[in-house]
Parts: sequence; structure tokens; C-alpha cells
Amino acid sequence: MSSRDGVWRRHDPIVAPIPLVFDSPHSGTRYPDDFVHTPPRALVRQAEDTHVGALWSHVPGIGATLIEAEFPRAYIDPNRNLGDIDPELVGDGWPDPITPSRKTAQGIGLVWRVVSGGVPLYARKLTAAELRARIDRYYLPYHDELTTVIDACHRAFGAVWHVNCHSMPAVGDTNADDAGRERRDFVIGDRDGTTCDAAFTQFVAGRIEALGYSVAINDPYKGVEIVRKHGRPKEQRHSLQIELKRTLYMDEDTLVPNAGYAKLQRDLTTIASELARYVTKQTGRAT
Ligand SMILES: [Zn+2]
Repeated sequence: MSSRDGVWRRHDPIVAPIPLVFDSPHSGTRYPDDFVHTPPRALVRQAEDTHVGALWSHVPGIGATLIEAEFPRAYIDPNRNLGDIDPELVGDGWPDPITPSRKTAQGIGLVWRVVSGGVPLYARKLTAAELRARIDRYYLPYHDELTTVIDACHRAFGAVWHVNCHSMPAVGDTNADDAGRERRDFVIGDRDGTTCDAAFTQFVAGRIEALGYSVAINDPYKGVEIVRKHGRPKEQRHSLQIELKRTLYMDEDTLVPNAGYAKLQRDLTTIASELARYVTKQTGRAT
């Protein structure tokens, strides 16, 4: 394993490498000392995709690479665009152009202003220098590492498949597009068919269903910045987001793994093995 302390960990293939890369941008639990937030830590931790990196941790055994963020999502969110700055949050103004999204208006842009559907994170505004430091120390090194690995695979094999791993609350919260609705077990997102071959999305959905899980495609999660950035199917760069329903593997309040954790981890390893076969077939290289 390689790491940049507090920022990312990379688990390299332990068998012959294939061009399959997993990343878990939201499962980090190492809270930086300067992350001074008002609500209790337990509430802030609701923003995490807790355990998602660990759930996919067997993929190096099928030739894939796994990259996990170590920093918490509520501190800075790697799955947002750098322009997704909330002007409400920066006391002394942000010097660069901003392109706020709908998420920014909800207080969950690049650096979150609120957690848990509207609870303010800070007792004061942040400074532009504080935001800049989070970008330079955490966001950019995470993106650089993921880009380096994806590009190296693409160079070596002429194609790459990337799976962006997340988890979701079992029921949409008040800010969600599906507020109050119970979700499927898995939601996979390719930004309406733009970030990977449709055949790949269909293959993944089929493998998930074959294991007895329910799956939705692009509803309510289509994928955000990371798959948008890396998914260019015409260039044989395929990027797909997978969301797991948190109640499949943990108690949503305490974040403690539940009785389903081990089975889900096994099933994710099975799914990853099938993806490995798909990728190997597509690249025409037998392993
Ligand atoms: Zn996530």
C-alpha cells in the first residue's frame, strides 16, 4: 500500500494488473486538526460514506487498483468542481471565478456550509486562505493520484474502466430529489449515458441483479464531478458511479457495521471479479 498521510491510500494489484480502477472519495475518517466544526462529530460523520473503501478492499486481488480518501468529505468534497464555491462561506471573498451548483445553494458544494440537511457547520465564516489550503493539501493531491493511476492504465492498455464508489442513506432526506422515498439497494450512475459505454452500465446492473439486489440507473444519483472528469467513453475511458444503500452494511446512526456487512463485502468482490472478466475481454488480453 502507498499513501500520502491523511490524504489518500492506494492499494495496488496483487495479481497481474488490469485497467480497472476503484476510488472511494468519501470514506475518509481522519479529521484534520483545523477542522473545527460546531455540531457534534457524530452528526458531521453522517456526511461520510463510512466503510466504503473497506467494503471494496479485495479488488487488488483481481488485478484492480483501489484509491481511498483519508480526509472527511465534510472538510472538502473531492466529488465537486473547484468552482463550486459557496460565497456565503468565505468571509473575505473568493478571488477566482466561481460556478456554484444546485448543491452549493443547499450548502454542500466544494466545502460544505451545513451538514445533515441544514445544520450549520461553522460558527464563523472561513477565510479564502483556509479554503485554498484545503484545496492544495487535500483536494488536488487526491485528484492528482487518481488521474495518475487512470492515465497509466489507459497508456498501458489503450482503455480504462473506473468505478467511483459511494454509499447513500436508505431514504432520501429533505434536500434530496427523492425526499422520503426508500431507495434501491444499489444506484449506478453514468450521467445519463455520457461517462461510459451503455453496455458497461448494463453489464454492471445485470451482475448486481444476478446477486439478488435491486438496482436503479441514474435515479436519483447520476454521478457528479469525478465521473464527469474521467468518463470519456469515445477515448475508451469509462467511468461509472456506484452507490450502496447504507442499511445493507451498517447502522446509519452509529455507523457500526451490521450483520449484512460480510455478505455485502463478499458480493462486491464477486461483482468486481465479473468486472475484471469484462475488462479483460474488452482489452483482448487474457490473464
Ligand atoms: Zn459519496
